[in-house]
Amino acid sequence: MENYRLRFAPSPTGPLHIGGARSALFNYLLAKKHQGTFIVRVEDTDLERSSKESEENIKNSLKWLGMDWDEGIDVGGDYGPYRQMERLDIYQAAIDKLLAEGKAYYCFCSEEELAAEKEAQQAKGETPKYSGKCRDLTPEQRQELLDQGMKPVIRFRVPEHEQVVINDLVRGEVTFDTDGIGDFIIVKSDGIPVYNFAVVLDDVTMKVSHVIRGEEHLSNTPRQAVIYDALGYERPQFAHISLILGRDNEGKLTKMSKRHGSTSVVAYQEMGFLPEAIVNFLALLGWAPEGEEELFTLEELTEQFSLERVSKSPAVFDMEKLKWINGMYIRKASAERLLEYGLPYLKKAGYVDAEPTVEQMIWAMMTIDALKNYISCFSELPAIIDQYRGKVIYRDEIVDEIKANKEIIVTVMTAMKEKLEKVNTINSDTYQQILKEIRKETGYKGRNLFHSIRVAKTGEDHGPDLDKLAIVMGRDLMLERANEFLEFAETL
Ligand code: GLU
Repeated sequence: MENYRLRFAPSPTGPLHIGGARSALFNYLLAKKHQGTFIVRVEDTDLERSSKESEENIKNSLKWLGMDWDEGIDVGGDYGPYRQMERLDIYQAAIDKLLAEGKAYYCFCSEEELAAEKEAQQAKGETPKYSGKCRDLTPEQRQELLDQGMKPVIRFRVPEHEQVVINDLVRGEVTFDTDGIGDFIIVKSDGIPVYNFAVVLDDVTMKVSHVIRGEEHLSNTPRQAVIYDALGYERPQFAHISLILGRDNEGKLTKMSKRHGSTSVVAYQEMGFLPEAIVNFLALLGWAPEGEEELFTLEELTEQFSLERVSKSPAVFDMEKLKWINGMYIRKASAERLLEYGLPYLKKAGYVDAEPTVEQMIWAMMTIDALKNYISCFSELPAIIDQYRGKVIYRDEIVDEIKANKEIIVTVMTAMKEKLEKVNTINSDTYQQILKEIRKETGYKGRNLFHSIRVAKTGEDHGPDLDKLAIVMGRDLMLERANEFLEFAETL
């Protein structure tokens, strides 16, 4: 049986991106589906752009999404270290080998020279490519330049006139002509290897079986393939997943970027999305389930996922769909989780204290429960609470309805006002008691009772459960609204 070893190899140059999270997820799912290993390692050779802060953010987001890794940074494993800057000796041994075999060479060309070369090629309408000037320097020439104190880069000698065939598990057979690839840099002048080189050594030494990554890396793959070949290593299986597109204001689709909205996982976390909703949504960005069902837990995805059902066509980031999925998970979540996720927004909006009292906690729980069907993410809570606690404006149709049933509604609300005046707080028990008394006193029940309260209280003919709404509003506001309604009804 094949040993599935998959990895996610982010560069810690910013927070975990939605696209990165999707790559991580697909690798995670395929590994788990085959009882394999999911590895997280870090590609930090870009010293200027890499930061510990980004690494922390990426780790936190992966954990938040539930993608725990079996091997890699923090958890360790047999093939570490798992940060490229801690693996320089591994790369050095391979570089020495390539240099000794003439498969790589020192290049002393200055940046100015290379820029001029590129410009000249472009002027002739050619695709820019390194001319190969330093390819055949003699050992003496090389020594002389080194003695002059020049700091060379190391380039890989790309074989000429060859076809590199990649059997991509998503895109099928993709062929590249090596003549289109100039001898590329594998070690910069500061002695640090570049991604295309280090990634090969990492994948080989970590025994990675499948590489699932974004389509933007497809053009890197032939470069990596020739390095595998030169070192005599077997290549892993590659799967390049399509770009994620965003829709701009004019409806045009372009590569998802900040102008389409937030791109980092943490931004969605802050907006009050649930991790299982994000995971579910990410899975559907490129992968299509077999049936009609669209809601899957991480476990269900693990069972059902397969690369055969991953599409080559670009995926579109549809915020409305994400909201719909999140709303579905909000409705399914337990009261404890709803409170955990909703409470920070209630604190921020000042509805409860930073250290909420027991009463406030009960209020928060009831409120979130009452309104959970009406939000698609938790950051919408304060606005919807305001909506139900705010002054009521009666639309024309509602005014007509009130006129038509004026006697019933006014009788019910007058009784409601009297009862409210006699209590200090509203909780489930006191509210039920009030309803019971109104029922007894007025003789109204069913729709006459409940619909009257709803219309008077909310100005709407449907909406959240009235019992819960009473608690969201609290005694004082209920009374205020009852009085306001009665004043308004008099004008009709
Ligand atoms: N560090 C690369 C990135 O963040 C990973 C490329 C790969 O998976 O080979 O895009």
